[in-house]
Amino acid sequence: MGNLLTVGSVAFDTIETPFGKAERILGGAGTYISLAASYFRKPVQLVSVVGSDFRQKDILMMQEAGIDTSGIQQKTDEKSFFWAGKYFNDMNHRDTLETQLNVLGTFDPVIPESYKSCDYLMLGNLSPAVQQLVIERLPVRPKLVVMDTMNFWISSFMDDLKIVIENVDVLIINEEEARQLTGQYSLVVAAREINAMGPNIVVIKKGEHGALLFYHGQIFFVPALPLEVVFDPTGAGDTFAGGFIGHIARQDSFSFETMKDAMVYGSAMASFCVEKFGVEGILNLSSEEIENRVKVFRSLVQ
Ligand code: AMP
Repeated sequence: MGNLLTVGSVAFDTIETPFGKAERILGGAGTYISLAASYFRKPVQLVSVVGSDFRQKDILMMQEAGIDTSGIQQKTDEKSFFWAGKYFNDMNHRDTLETQLNVLGTFDPVIPESYKSCDYLMLGNLSPAVQQLVIERLPVRPKLVVMDTMNFWISSFMDDLKIVIENVDVLIINEEEARQLTGQYSLVVAAREINAMGPNIVVIKKGEHGALLFYHGQIFFVPALPLEVVFDPTGAGDTFAGGFIGHIARQDSFSFETMKDAMVYGSAMASFCVEKFGVEGILNLSSEEIENRVKVFRSLVQ
């Protein structure tokens, strides 16, 4: 088993879907990633920042899930990152209504001593300059560095983004963002262009249409589970990333075979996420429930 360090936003989200609205609930890429990964590897170390408005009960819940929260800074005179999004009937697309960076705007990541020997680093969605600082502040390069990003950073922080992308092994990105990043419509060509930017391995998420793994010239596809209820897709991408890196850290391997399984575990975790609002769908799962869902995935394509 390898040590796992995750970085990403820990936030308040206001989410509106055709099924309802939830205000200022716990969210953030770092939250979803570390919760999902905690089913595979404990503790999951998390580096992030929150404001004085952050609730102690959310920190306790994360600790109970097996997350080491000593890397979460709390700023006394600032507010937590806030994001508001709205989904329409086609839940594959959403509008961002508001992004208030607040504490994320000035985040200077501090990596606790006990985190510094990490084997696997998952750079969740966050300012690319901060993602790069985390890489630089680790005394030894991890065995595998995986990163995620989103349209917000691609649109306005392209120079910073290119620097981090050059330094990671795996880029996880959704299909619209892969096209935005490369200007290529074909995902095969986009993945090749991303390879040329740095990462040898590319994962392209296609929402309800599954995800593709481009691994040194080989391609693997995993579908998304056809679900009766998709309640709230928020965090599905991060949850996928958490399951993906969690499985890799648990196996302490990043062979093609392990990564194919990691794609299946990531997709299984994402399917739990979308069934409920916010993080609720990925709380208190049993390993039996996860394994059963993985079996359903496998039987879909066999
Ligand atoms: P996903 O649905 O997987 O793309 O992730 C949604 C989560 O990302 C929400 O919980 C938000 O708090 C978080 N998020 C949204 N925008 C940003 C951003 N610009 N930087 C960091 N996290 C963000």
